[in-house]
Amino acid sequence: MSKVQGLNKQFTEKDVNRMRNLIQGKHGEKVGQSVGYSKQERRHKEGDIWEVDGRKWTIKDGIKQNITKLDKAKKAYMMPIFCPNCGSKMHTDFDKPYYNIHKKCFNCVVEFEHELRVAGLYEAYEKRIINSDLDGFINDFKNFISSELLITNNSFITEQGDVEKWVGAPNKDKVMEGLEKTIKHLNSLKR
Ligand SMILES: [Zn+2]
Repeated sequence: MSKVQGLNKQFTEKDVNRMRNLIQGKHGEKVGQSVGYSKQERRHKEGDIWEVDGRKWTIKDGIKQNITKLDKAKKAYMMPIFCPNCGSKMHTDFDKPYYNIHKKCFNCVVEFEHELRVAGLYEAYEKRIINSDLDGFINDFKNFISSELLITNNSFITEQGDVEKWVGAPNKDKVMEGLEKTIKHLNSLKR
């Protein structure tokens, strides 16, 4: 239970009850067979939380999602109220894109880039920003592909919100080949 403590704030009492039911095994577990697949079936409803191979999953808006991943992504895109650099209040609409990349407000970025131009360092700086963006994108993309492979290998979610598992896997070699090609292309865009 201690692992989910950090997420508790986001849960309503209904969610907690659902979780309690899940832990007590009241989630209507059943095993079924269907034509074409040899599969195990476990029923999960909206808001259920369950763990597979140390990863926590939930169903939100009918979509199976990895809780740990969601939580991390949320934190990465949160913006403080005040700019960490100058302390002025930040505005979601125009400061956000700058905060996401530079961790400071628009004005601070403009000022910083002006200083760099004056010092003749702007070009080198721009190069580094673009390359680090590409590196970040490549990394995200790799993570996305590997988590997709993991999901497809294990299970999929039916329209009724059931998680179905089946034997068989996507053509991993083909996927990895595509991944390599994409990374190669992205690397070629570096300056
Ligand atoms: Zn600022």
